[in-house]
Amino acid sequence: MEEIKRLLLEEKAKLLSDIREKTENNLKNKDIGDAIDSSVEEQERELDLLLQDREQVRLEGIEIALKRIESDDFGYCEECGEDISKKRLLAVPLARMCINCQSNIERSRLAQNAFTRADYSSQVLSEE
Ligand SMILES: [Zn+2]
Repeated sequence: MEEIKRLLLEEKAKLLSDIREKTENNLKNKDIGDAIDSSVEEQERELDLLLQDREQVRLEGIEIALKRIESDDFGYCEECGEDISKKRLLAVPLARMCINCQSNIERSRLAQNAFTRADYSSQVLSEE
């Protein structure tokens, strides 16, 4: 388990420095951004924000995993409660499900996505 904890801590440090670097870049770009104000730059900024969100979510996942390691609650499948194999945890430290449940869920999610796309226009209307 120490090995996985170390992996998570490394990942966390990397994410934190990535996020810090991007925030600094964003601050630096702000002054120039006002003058240039091109749509391309606007798109890039949106993409940055999106990536930052994703990193933030990942960071939270790592925090949760680290807490679970501390309280000996780590490495169990959220679906069936079975141990997640150590091999899987080393490959995917943030895995919250065993390989069986994960692939079941991915399969049903794929089916759902296909359905959502086909039904997209009516869904947008009904969400309002
Ligand atoms: Zn499971």
